[in-house]
Amino acid sequence: MERLEIRTDRTGECWLWTGRLNGSGYAEMKLGGRYQMAHRVAYQEIVGPIPEGLQLDHLCRVRHCVNPAHLEPVTSRENTLRGENLVAINAAKTHCKRGHLFDAANTYRWRNSRICRECRRLRSATKAGDRS
Ligand SMILES: [Zn+2]
Ligand SMILES: [Zn+2]
Repeated sequence: MERLEIRTDRTGECWLWTGRLNGSGYAEMKLGGRYQMAHRVAYQEIVGPIPEGLQLDHLCRVRHCVNPAHLEPVTSRENTLRGENLVAINAAKTHCKRGHLFDAANTYRWRNSRICRECRRLRSATKAGDRS
């Protein structure tokens, strides 16, 4: 808990983590010999246990904020839909930009995006044409 206080900048509403951040921009702290998400540690120290299977959503959208008042436990799907990220945008789309249906046969996932197989096929056909 002391370390949490030392490593945060509380000049604003958010408690900004001044320590290490992980690859996704979340605050990390070493606890019990391994790195843990500092906002989860702060929430558990100050508010209480995080309900099983739930993630903490940053209501302030500042990923390295560890202020428990800005954190709300949500299911991972809620968290994804709330975030203004690719996953949320893709979840709303049923067709690719050329109008091919995103169904099981025509879709494959790459990282967090859906890729249209038909478009990929058309693109590689065009490339092959350019070479000849
Ligand atoms: Zn915040
Ligand atoms: Zn397509």
